[in-house]
Amino acid sequence: MVKLENIVKTYNRGRSNAFEALHGVSLEVGDGEMVAIVGTSGAGKSTLLHILACIDGYDSGEYVIDGELIGRLSERKMAAIRNEKVGMIMQDFALVEGFTALENVMIPLDFAARARRKRRRDRRETALKMLELVQMREFAHKPVNNLSGGQKQRVAIARAIANEPALVLADEPTGALDSKTTREIMKVFRDLNKRGKTVLIVTHDQAVAKQCDRIIEISDGVIVE
Ligand code: ADP
Ligand code: MG
Repeated sequence: MVKLENIVKTYNRGRSNAFEALHGVSLEVGDGEMVAIVGTSGAGKSTLLHILACIDGYDSGEYVIDGELIGRLSERKMAAIRNEKVGMIMQDFALVEGFTALENVMIPLDFAARARRKRRRDRRETALKMLELVQMREFAHKPVNNLSGGQKQRVAIARAIANEPALVLADEPTGALDSKTTREIMKVFRDLNKRGKTVLIVTHDQAVAKQCDRIIEISDGVIVE
């Protein structure tokens, strides 16, 4: 599904405050795998995830997602791949607070070229189906600011999978949740994985990491395990 080879990433490249956050990261994740990425704060986990999500580029190395070489692509092509192949879930949910759950899930559907060809009514059906998958159908018309943390995270997951991406990435998705809600959210990720999605979860929580098939550890910008 994804293959990184010797990825180097520098923030503020060429400036006096330049900082090399990844020093040559190589990793491979197969189709349908569920992988945890662990490491201390500042190790480079989010940097790595942003590259995997095609949100950020890199200085050197190669990144291939689903057979496509990123890096040599234009910003526009990268955005298209991001939309089509990747679903990203942030720790702080990154939902539009004034919108309902349904409106939030419809955002990527209104965006994606492929989905846009569908009628609005069909897109709405798709969004409702996604909310159903995360057991949030009955909250579809609630403004998300009225939802609990676990419910918001479910909506964020529904939004991330709306375009049926093959790759689901999550940056500390349970970091703000209590342990019971964490278990419930992990069940949602495991179910997605069972339905064939490749899942990568950045986490600090050993209990979360242990539920994945494999644990990759990153330390000071290099993979240690
Ligand atoms: P983690 O997610 O593992 O906590 P990050 O990937 O966020 O780590 O950060 C890795 C390193 O890169 C840290 O030292 C951080 O300070 C630095 N860094 C992250 N983002 C930026 C940025 N936009 N500009 C400069 N340095 C950054
Ligand atoms: Mg981080």
